Amino acid sequence: MIVAIDGPAASGKGTIARRLAKHFGLPHLDTGLLYRATARVLIDEGTRLDDVESAVAAARGLALTDFDEEKLRGREMGEAASVVGAMPDVRAALIDMQRRFTQHPAGAVLDGRDIGTVIAPQADVKIFVTASPETRAQRRALELRGRGEPVIYADILADIRKRDERDAQRSSAPLKAAADATILDTTDLDIEAAFKAALAIVEKKRG
Ligand code: C5P
Repeated sequence: MIVAIDGPAASGKGTIARRLAKHFGLPHLDTGLLYRATARVLIDEGTRLDDVESAVAAARGLALTDFDEEKLRGREMGEAASVVGAMPDVRAALIDMQRRFTQHPAGAVLDGRDIGTVIAPQADVKIFVTASPETRAQRRALELRGRGEPVIYADILADIRKRDERDAQRSSAPLKAAADATILDTTDLDIEAAFKAALAIVEKKRG
């Protein structure tokens, strides 16, 4: 069974994907990490984020094992990932790695922005997780503070709006729900309720 979970930043898609993978004993890939890791290489090299050639080389050089999540989860990295994620050649360089992941014999759970539309249009279940920008900003601010990053709510809300806009407006694989995705709005749901709602969607699709 292939489960595609897409949605904007801090919608809850990562937690839902992780929980579903654990529940069904499937491997899970957080595809945002690929874009974050690509951007990280450029930052560590001191290369400009808009240098397409270097970004493509960084994306091609990624291995699924070299992700130091500590270095990838900060506020700056979400923004940087969205810059390289808007480059069609970077997206092309990351497709094979993601498609290979879907070929695990038991299936897989992937979360991102274009899993149901581009990476795995054949997915058995597609869920598009969303929530209001204000709720997402609150969650992200809490998460970043929990990681020791002192942040201001208004700044995070501005980040979220900017990232939504860039992800939705880009020409290549923009953030949007697949026509056959089920929309799950988590604005008024806590993690447990969101997971249960997602599980119900999967169970219903599996018949
Ligand atoms: O999901 P996460 O916040 O980690 O993603 C960071 C950025 O990476 C997103 O804002 C988006 O621009 C990009 N991304 C993408 N396609 C994916 C996953 C992430 O473009 N499948």
